Amino acid sequence: MLFIETKTNKRESFVNITDLVNALVETSGKKDGICILYVPHTTAAITINESADPDVVRDITQKLGELIPHRGNYAHSEGNSDAHIKASIIGNSRIVIIENGRLALGTWEGIFLCEFDGPRTRKVFIKLL
Ligand code: ZN
Repeated sequence: MLFIETKTNKRESFVNITDLVNALVETSGKKDGICILYVPHTTAAITINESADPDVVRDITQKLGELIPHRGNYAHSEGNSDAHIKASIIGNSRIVIIENGRLALGTWEGIFLCEFDGPRTRKVFIKLL
């Protein structure tokens, strides 16, 4: 299993990891297959969405914050229930096709590690098949 590690610098942020994942695929020499990405954290997630316009991930973060506020009537004593809920909604894995030694993403797409309870050091487990 491969992994990448990234440090987040705010409580909430979307970190574009596309180039890091593409670099791993290139280094592996795999030309065709699938790339499984898995985030082993309960308050972080992974998504694929527009990376050309940074306002898109800003809007996603903003709207999630409106729907699931940081402070609320939560039972979990750590005070980060919103982060657990957001991570559950976005999800902790994605699959991308590898074609010609590259991730087969759409023109405007990027892969984002979604931080909901940072700053922390986060890992993404990666398996190439
Ligand atoms: Zn917690």
